[in-house]
Amino acid sequence: MEHPIAFYNTATKTVDPFETHTPGHVNMYTCGPTVYHFAHLGNLRSYIMEDILEKFLRSAGYDVKRVMNITDVGHLSSDADTGEDKMVAGAKREHKTVMEIAKFYTDAFFADCADLNIKTPDVVEPATNLIPEYIHLIEVLFEKGYAYEAGGNIYFDTSKLKDYYCLTGHKQDDLMVGVRDDVDQDENKRNPADFVLWFTKSKFENQELRWESPWGTGYPGWHIECSAISMKHLGEYLDIHCGGVDNIFPHHTNEIAQSEAYLGHPWCRTWFHVQHLNDKGGKMSKSKGGFLTVSTLKEQGYDPLVYRMFCLQSHYRKPLEFSFEVLDNVKNTYEKLRRRVLDLDPAGEVDQAVFEDFRGRFLDALGNDLNSSLGITLIYEVLKADTNDATKRAIIADFDRVLSLDLTVEKEEPKGEADGDLAAYVESKIAERAQARKDRNFALADQIRNELAEQGIVLKDGKDGTTWEKV
Ligand code: AMP
Ligand code: ZN
Repeated sequence: MEHPIAFYNTATKTVDPFETHTPGHVNMYTCGPTVYHFAHLGNLRSYIMEDILEKFLRSAGYDVKRVMNITDVGHLSSDADTGEDKMVAGAKREHKTVMEIAKFYTDAFFADCADLNIKTPDVVEPATNLIPEYIHLIEVLFEKGYAYEAGGNIYFDTSKLKDYYCLTGHKQDDLMVGVRDDVDQDENKRNPADFVLWFTKSKFENQELRWESPWGTGYPGWHIECSAISMKHLGEYLDIHCGGVDNIFPHHTNEIAQSEAYLGHPWCRTWFHVQHLNDKGGKMSKSKGGFLTVSTLKEQGYDPLVYRMFCLQSHYRKPLEFSFEVLDNVKNTYEKLRRRVLDLDPAGEVDQAVFEDFRGRFLDALGNDLNSSLGITLIYEVLKADTNDATKRAIIADFDRVLSLDLTVEKEEPKGEADGDLAAYVESKIAERAQARKDRNFALADQIRNELAEQGIVLKDGKDGTTWEKV
């Protein structure tokens, strides 16, 4: 490639030159959403950054094949195989079947992605599609001595690996990391870090989706899907694997364990992880409830691309705190920037030398561990450059193939949606606060009140409950 490209690699803890198994081609895998609820803005931060990673690699001349799974089975509320199945819990919450929930939230996810100009990966595979592949993979792990059966479930034996903790660098005896939030540790595991490949006899009697297997009727553990889906569509060598930092352990660690045990050779070169989006209460998460979504933004009159710009202005490896004040600033900046670009006169000839010079600088910025904020700064340099409008517009349109901020696209100003949607959002926050108070979690209750206040929504507690008004 003409321009040097290097990314931070979680596996080596250094910024490494980007290399691929087949020159010029990138096999890219992304952990997709668990479709038991709407994606929140934190999840979408990860997908926005992975989207510009993909588009940047394409713009730099690579032929990219990108695959993403949809988790619709097997992901329990604790990543260490305990708690409730997230999909079953979602179905119960909404009095629907697991498959109805999966379909609804998969569609909602891709609608959010469309609003944020996130391209759909070349292959999207729901986890429930490849059950025979998981069974085959587990059978091979048995043959090779990496799997064992205990209490009706099939586990991966992490003690069989020389370097199970290759991603995190933990010592083998730091075992409690794997079970840190567990109340009821799984007695069947030979080693605390072992993980479930296949559940049969388990406490999830109400699991709707079950399949026949050589070990009895059951369903797969969470991690196996990503190894099998990746290998099916991308073969034995993966170039780059992405996810949020919470995926590093145990999910990606377990993916490496089972994939390399199965393949008998190294699997993925580069591990790319996006830091979390936090709100005032810490990491934004679906299980906490009351999270912010693309619909929240639209209800409040924001163009979702303002949130995309908010994310691109910050480096993907730094935690990012969400606030409506900062989003308002970005909104102003975004609207002014779009106006300036749209006011450029497209008539005239593009100066190729200037175009190539800026294109090179842009690719260098993103090739330097995906420095997206420098990419945005360069737009301002283009606007100031000593060249004609047509050249500026062409350069910015080229950058925007990667940034996808619709900088050269005329569109209608976003309208705030019906008041009913805002009411539904505030009512859900009020219910969440009431629950927090019932749980005597007053810190959370205050936090919810303060967050609403920041959005201009004032709560009043009266004898008939809580009312609100927008000030
Ligand atoms: P999930 O739907 O929970 O499986 O998560 C989907 C993706 O979002 C995964 O790559 C997670 O690592 C990522 N993710 C979860 N929470 C956050 C957050 N607060 N900020 C950024 N990414 C997140
Ligand atoms: Zn995954």
